[in-house]
Amino acid sequence: MHVRNTVSFICVLLLTMPWVCLYFLGIRPQPLPLALVSAMAIGGGALLISWAAEAAEVDVSRSLSMAILALVAVMPEYAVDIYLSWQAGKDQHYVGLVSANMTGGNRLLVGIGWSLVAFLTWWSLKQGSRRATKTVTLDKDIALGFLFLACSTAYSLLLPIKGRITLFDALVLSCFYITYICLATKAPRRDVELFGPAQLIASTKPLLRRLFVILLFAYSGFVIFISAEPLAESLKELGKSIGIGEFFMIQWIAPLASEAPEIIVASYFALRLLPTSALTAVISAKLNQWTLLIASLPIVYSISSHMLQPLPLGELQRSEILLTAAQSTFACTILIDFNISLHEAVLLLLLFLSQLSMPLIIPAQKLVELSRDAFSLIYFSLSVWMLLKQRNNLHQLRIALGEMLTYITSREVSKTATEQFATLRRERGSEFDEKPSIKFCGAAGEVTGSCHLVVAGKTSVLLDCGLIQGGKERHIRNREPFTFDASRVEACILTHAHLDHCGRLPLLIKSGFKGRIFATRATCELARIVLLDSAKLNEEDAAWKIKRLKKAGEDYSWVTPLFTTEEALMCIERFEPVDYHEEKSVGDLTFRLLDAGHILGSAMVELQLPSNSESVMLLFTGDLGRRNAPIIRDPELVSECDVLIMESTYAGQIHGGKETYMQTLVEVIEWTRERGGKVIIPSFAIERAQDLLYVLGKLFNSGTVKPLPVFVDSPMAIEALKVFKRHVELYDDEARLRLKQYGDPFAFEGLRTTSTVDESKSINQFEEPCIIIAGNGMCTGGRIKHHLKHNIGNPNCTILFVGYQANGTLGRQIVDGERSVRIFGEQYEVRARVVKIEAFSGHADNDDIDWWLSSFERAPKLTFAVHGEKNALASLKQLLSLRGWKCIIPALNDVWRLL
Ligand SMILES: [Zn+2]
Repeated sequence: MHVRNTVSFICVLLLTMPWVCLYFLGIRPQPLPLALVSAMAIGGGALLISWAAEAAEVDVSRSLSMAILALVAVMPEYAVDIYLSWQAGKDQHYVGLVSANMTGGNRLLVGIGWSLVAFLTWWSLKQGSRRATKTVTLDKDIALGFLFLACSTAYSLLLPIKGRITLFDALVLSCFYITYICLATKAPRRDVELFGPAQLIASTKPLLRRLFVILLFAYSGFVIFISAEPLAESLKELGKSIGIGEFFMIQWIAPLASEAPEIIVASYFALRLLPTSALTAVISAKLNQWTLLIASLPIVYSISSHMLQPLPLGELQRSEILLTAAQSTFACTILIDFNISLHEAVLLLLLFLSQLSMPLIIPAQKLVELSRDAFSLIYFSLSVWMLLKQRNNLHQLRIALGEMLTYITSREVSKTATEQFATLRRERGSEFDEKPSIKFCGAAGEVTGSCHLVVAGKTSVLLDCGLIQGGKERHIRNREPFTFDASRVEACILTHAHLDHCGRLPLLIKSGFKGRIFATRATCELARIVLLDSAKLNEEDAAWKIKRLKKAGEDYSWVTPLFTTEEALMCIERFEPVDYHEEKSVGDLTFRLLDAGHILGSAMVELQLPSNSESVMLLFTGDLGRRNAPIIRDPELVSECDVLIMESTYAGQIHGGKETYMQTLVEVIEWTRERGGKVIIPSFAIERAQDLLYVLGKLFNSGTVKPLPVFVDSPMAIEALKVFKRHVELYDDEARLRLKQYGDPFAFEGLRTTSTVDESKSINQFEEPCIIIAGNGMCTGGRIKHHLKHNIGNPNCTILFVGYQANGTLGRQIVDGERSVRIFGEQYEVRARVVKIEAFSGHADNDDIDWWLSSFERAPKLTFAVHGEKNALASLKQLLSLRGWKCIIPALNDVWRLL
């Protein structure tokens, strides 16, 4: 490996040698050999500089190494433009030429550079893989370059309006660049995977490596600097000798020669499936020209003319700068979603080429000038169109920028390389020394979709694989492919049976997962009920959609259920029950489940990760329960771990006490009974419905409240009740006592369960006061809607909410006090009393979290806050920082090293 790398390094170094030797000997050959040797030198120099920049990433951030690369690669442009503005200070004739080279080169970088990155990445993906998407996805790292590109572009729009570049402009633009470099220095340093000669350089001792990288930057910078001019000149000569006009050569060939290093570097990175590095290199080069180079023009002009004065811009230059700014604006709008599609790349290239070829097509100079402004208009219009198209992605961009700045201020070491590329690169036979890491594939920055991939040694294990439940895009997001290779995941550890933790397991298996799914016995049994119910709903949804499309005469072949009953059953077969505290090993790592006290069978996962030096203990809380919840035990206390992944759903909030909710419940029952009405309780089928029965049983059996009929109108809740009755070993002391006293803590006089639809309908004929518990919990479907339809208009009835109501659901509308609501397509007035009890929550509130944390004897080295909305995550971070703990709020698909 080393031999091959050394050989390629020496070969490339030799490429640069002929011209360097000739240059020092002062020999300038004929145009053809000169073009050849200088092109070789530029190509070699560009490769050397990309290796240097890559190896530099071991020591500094990617953004910084790319910025240094850009600074070195942009040298030829500096040489030309500074020469021209120096001359302009002496001879006004040159003023008209000053910015020509820079604007031309700048547009070439975007028009050819950006599109080339997209094409080459796509082509390279196609070579090595089955999954060549037509969209090139970039890491969030690009956000920093994007920010400064957008700012400097916005500022540069002022220049054509003012008609000159003042020294103040020079100050502002240099400040942009200096700030960019400063932030780039602090940007997150990546765990880089190096290949080829870059790896060879990086593998040397730190001091030697740094020295070598600096030397390489200097040498290749020098080579590029001395080669650009002879290449452009010799090509011009060659063109002349075969009858091509000089003007054409200057327009086309000169910028191509001076931008060649950047284009070569970007192509090299794109072919290596590093599109983010490729684009960062191009953006850095562009940014450099767009800020520092422009800034240097009035300064050099002032010095040369011995007078402090702005550089005047002619008509041509104004429209040139406007056109360049217009193209930059359009390029920025493309990047908003961190993707470049092939279509966008083609558009960029076509626009650039057609604008460039205008002088060839239109002979009249005046028309060419007009066409330039027309192109500016086209670019601006496209930007507006793109902005409208991308408006939904704007908040994503804002988050990425926010994260980038957070990283910069917190200086954490992290890695967000797109796994797809990383995997492909790994598959291509590189040596990849894996340190324990975690990838947050779900419930990062949001509540639902819990899913985290832990990789240690050769083993990868998934913690949860949940459904995304909120948000308009949930249907699309749930169907998106996993951001990791499911076939390489050895096992999944499931914390509990809620759908937002287990709901995508069947899809995991569809994606090639072949391992086992570990969970407590109660979780296995409850998850079976949850998954089968979910499959049935998926199938009904799909059938309904097909029916509707058929009726409308539209194509329905694309409609499929998210997963079917059969697929759910295949998933259930993989379940393997594990007892609390039982040690299990999967590949290189071992784990234990601890009681999380959230719902029956819920668990925290304690993972022991192997490593060369010391082992690392990772604790994932799953959903953490509260103290004194009915039936189940309190969350188990933990004294230590190295890495803590902590849920934060109710951080910063306090649930009402147990006593108050009992009082409210009693009051609601008595109030409704007196009026002869019914209490309608929308309830989740797992845990909440059983909690209600348990509490009602306690009230009735103890004589606190006179019993009244209670209907459990939810087949799923009835099924789950059987699991609760089977697992008495999981009860807390109080439930055990009641078990001893009454035999069945859920039984009481007047309890009726209704499984069939006919039984459910018969409840409507029931005239007496009663309680009806039905699903689903947020009234978006299920039998509860029938009961609401019959009772919501009755002022003697009460609708009692005992769970969280998400935005946009029928339940939320009622809780929010809407006067009339739509049920099954008809409008109903809300006359019934509406009451809400929040204390039934299964999640720890701020006090519970604080109580649980206080059992730690030492602070974890690192804590990640997940499973919460923005405010809750921030509250948890604050809570932890009060204890002096380090807390990170990872973004979706972030990868963090754990050592
Ligand atoms: Zn849960």
